[in-house]
Amino acid sequence: MLPFRRAVAVFFSIALSFLLLMLVLLLGSRSMMQDEYRQSKQTLLQAALNNEKRELTRALYDHSSWDDAFRQMQLSELDPSWLESTFGADTISTNDMSGILILAPDFTERFNNSLQPLTAEQLLQVRDFVRQHQISCTPDTRLSSLQQSASSDFLTAAGQTIMLSAAPVVPNTFEASCEHLSYLVFWRLLDNGYLANMASNYGFSQLRLSSGTEPDATQSIQLNTSQPTRLLWSALAPPYNNLYKALGLSLVLTLILAVLALVFYRNIKRGHQDFYSLFEKNRAIQLLVNPLNGQIVMANQAAIAFYAYPGKDLLRLTLDNLSAGGISTLQLIGSANPCEVTQKLWNGVTRRVEINSGQIILAGEPLLYLIIHDVTQTHQAARELERSEARFRAIFEDASLGILQLDRYGHILDVNPAFCQMIGFPEENLTRWQWIDLIHHKERDATRRTYQALIDGVVDKLSHQQRFLNAGGEIIWTQMNISPVRINGEDSTYVALVENVNERMYLQQKLQDMAAKDPLTGLYNRRSMEEQAAREQSWSKRHGQSLCVMIADIDHFKLINDNYGHASGDIVLKEFAAVCNTHLRETDIFCRWGGEEFVILLTQTDMQQAWVVAERLREAVEKMRVRCHEQHIRLTVSLGLSDWNAEREDFISALERADTALYDAKRGGRNRTVIVNSEARHSAHP
Ligand code: GH3
Ligand code: MG
Ligand code: MG
Repeated sequence: MLPFRRAVAVFFSIALSFLLLMLVLLLGSRSMMQDEYRQSKQTLLQAALNNEKRELTRALYDHSSWDDAFRQMQLSELDPSWLESTFGADTISTNDMSGILILAPDFTERFNNSLQPLTAEQLLQVRDFVRQHQISCTPDTRLSSLQQSASSDFLTAAGQTIMLSAAPVVPNTFEASCEHLSYLVFWRLLDNGYLANMASNYGFSQLRLSSGTEPDATQSIQLNTSQPTRLLWSALAPPYNNLYKALGLSLVLTLILAVLALVFYRNIKRGHQDFYSLFEKNRAIQLLVNPLNGQIVMANQAAIAFYAYPGKDLLRLTLDNLSAGGISTLQLIGSANPCEVTQKLWNGVTRRVEINSGQIILAGEPLLYLIIHDVTQTHQAARELERSEARFRAIFEDASLGILQLDRYGHILDVNPAFCQMIGFPEENLTRWQWIDLIHHKERDATRRTYQALIDGVVDKLSHQQRFLNAGGEIIWTQMNISPVRINGEDSTYVALVENVNERMYLQQKLQDMAAKDPLTGLYNRRSMEEQAAREQSWSKRHGQSLCVMIADIDHFKLINDNYGHASGDIVLKEFAAVCNTHLRETDIFCRWGGEEFVILLTQTDMQQAWVVAERLREAVEKMRVRCHEQHIRLTVSLGLSDWNAEREDFISALERADTALYDAKRGGRNRTVIVNSEARHSAHP
């Protein structure tokens, strides 16, 4: 391709140079011809005039009888033989159709018998002749003009040329004064021979005469200025200096053009070298193909290595030969850029490739430039990712576990159907919320802090029990695990797995209750009381709260059992617990210590307040009527009350003191409250 390019460049530069040379020559020769024409016309005229004058003068001197000759001369007698005999054959060709008129209007008066070559009648004949030949100006005018200018000119009649010359004549050998001058007027119909001579003398090789239509006076002169070849030939013909100038200029211009063409060619060559270097050595697989049929025109080393066809086999193929699919690769390239196709290599292995294409013009031919990337692995990875995505989506959708995808601000990005079902809200509502808005209000602050700790990376994951509130406002106990998930190095999202543990929590609560509470009354049991007392003690140590311990023992309960039966006794115990509960605060801890003995730990309560509570209980019990088997059972209770200095003593010590007070109450007659102070031992009331 490179030699072709070189040939085109050289041809182009030569053609351009030649054309420019032609143009210069044409312009040069044209202007030169115009100059030459003007010059030659004047020269010709002047020469003719000079010649005629010279000849005439000679004739006048040489022929003493010229007056007779002229006198005798009639216009009709202006025949070549007469002229030849009069003026000599060497001066006027016998072929010339010429005439000489001596015009002197006043001649008749002054030189009546000497010089009167034309009679008035003859003059009229001249005029008629001029008119007959449609000479544009009247003979009088023309002659007058000639007289004044003493020159010659061509007259043009019917596209033909007549040379008229006039010269002042001194007939009597310089005797006459100026005003007696006559004018010798020549008229000469120019013929081939004459003009050929003139042209040869003055370098006008191309001047010629064509035959006229009038036999006797219609020889004409024509300058063939309309024929370029003749002009060119004329321009090339020496000895014109302008031609050499034109040639010199053309040479210089040609030289400049040649240099420009060389630079142009070198640029093209360098451009081509750059292109081939880029194309050949590029590590990307590259092909040049015919855009019409997909024929592979050129393949770089990477392409040859990739497709692995032996020798130059690759260059015998079209794109469709490489295609492993049914669709035309050219069509695909036309519809999408870049496009992906599956191609097969020489060994039959198929590869997924991405083709980037563009059109270029190389050596005048439009070609498709293809850059091919092997994206098989990426393609497989993408398909694997798609499959994996589909698997994940299936798991996400079908999981019985609630799954939430959260951003760092806790917004719900995605939620699966299991969670929607668990919480009772549709997906479109949930994705507008922060997940913390869905949890129990008591847990929101603490949860917000722990979630922030996860966002800040303080902890790797969160795993805790979380109470959600469903659409109906009910508590849903869940086990929640939240972990950050980083996908493709992007900002973390957080995936929360939410397991509904409501049932488990219920059972657990039940077990806890069973472990901590008395099954008959539902009150805390002794073990639970001791645990809670320990917690209250530590709280009291930190915050300095006052505590009181109260023991209540139903009076003569044995009798109730005995009188109404054990079952009725149980009912009495349950109702006693219920009545007491109504008179205690939530913060008070009420337990069945054993049998018909109850212990109450009054938090944030001093002795004064505790006494009031105890008395209120006692009075309430006294008023109780437990309906059982159509009978109303009455009962009373004795209460022992003590303060608990939690910083100095344990719960049991305070309880023992209260028990002592209870003992005192029993001994004191029952249905009463006895208090005992850790400092002042006993008293019946505060
Ligand atoms: P005091 O006024 O001195 O307290 O006399 P009391 O009879 O109440 O006291 P005592 O300790 O002699 O009797 C308590 C009785 O409570 C004995 C026992 O059978 C009965 N008792 C203990 N636990 C239960 C129970 O769970 N159900 C029933 N029905 N009776 C119980
Ligand atoms: Mg008892
Ligand atoms: Mg008792």
